[in-house]
Amino acid sequence: HNASGKPESVLLIFHDFTRLKELENARREFVANVSHELRTPLSMIKGFVETMIDHPTMERETLSGFLGKVKKHSDRLAHLIEDLLMVSRLESGQATVNLQSLQLVHEVSRIVDDLQRNADKKNTQLTYSVEGQLHVLGDSDLLEQILLNLLENAVKYGKEGGKVSVDATHDRHEQICVSVSDDGPGIPPESLDRIFERFFRIDKARSRAQGGTGLGLSIVKHIAQTLGGRVWVESTMGEGTTFFFTLKSSPEHSIAPNTPAQRLGSVA
Ligand code: ADP
Repeated sequence: HNASGKPESVLLIFHDFTRLKELENARREFVANVSHELRTPLSMIKGFVETMIDHPTMERETLSGFLGKVKKHSDRLAHLIEDLLMVSRLESGQATVNLQSLQLVHEVSRIVDDLQRNADKKNTQLTYSVEGQLHVLGDSDLLEQILLNLLENAVKYGKEGGKVSVDATHDRHEQICVSVSDDGPGIPPESLDRIFERFFRIDKARSRAQGGTGLGLSIVKHIAQTLGGRVWVESTMGEGTTFFFTLKSSPEHSIAPNTPAQRLGSVA
């Protein structure tokens, strides 16, 4: 208004709250997903416990079958809560990161050994090929979690009697690229962009039946980023899938790229 109170100009203010809306939608979707994932095992546990209470004279064999189911669904809940806490720590930047120089072949061989039993159950040949001189700047627990999640998936979703391998190479950008490959059914092209999203699954029923939480690959992505690297996937239907992630190479043990090196270890 001017001095005599007459309107002189108009000020219009526009707020673009698209991003806020997107965040709000993502939050709502996350809460709905978490509630659904928690409710399913909880209602199974409740159902079995109520039946046991209603039939106190139930046969021992049936009883132990029911208790086995209660245990299975409680484990699933515990696993889900652990994964949710991990996602939350990583997303809020509160994950403890203890960066140190790690000899990659040691980390890989330890995790491959841990997963040998899972692989044996599916008759899967699990191998690794990592140059002994490769040292990464990483956190042993976080690196273990990335490798465990990718290897567990490769065995779980790979074919019976298939092959799973871990390889690592050093590139010229002071980075080390680790890959986990399987010769399983592959990931459909339309799912490749969404595979790292929380709770995204190609076959929901199959993933849940195998004890999956749907959070494994989003944890992998967050950890790779927390360690200063990135993660991506390549897959051909009917031929297999390879997940790649990069890690920083340890400056204490820097080596010239493409140096021929002795290959350590290969476990069949
Ligand atoms: P989940 O707990 O369901 O395994 P993830 O986040 O680890 O959750 O994986 C998401 C989905 O990606 C899985 O449900 C599965 O459909 C698909 N997937 C992951 N790894 C592979 C693989 N190696 N081959 C085929 N599909 C895979």
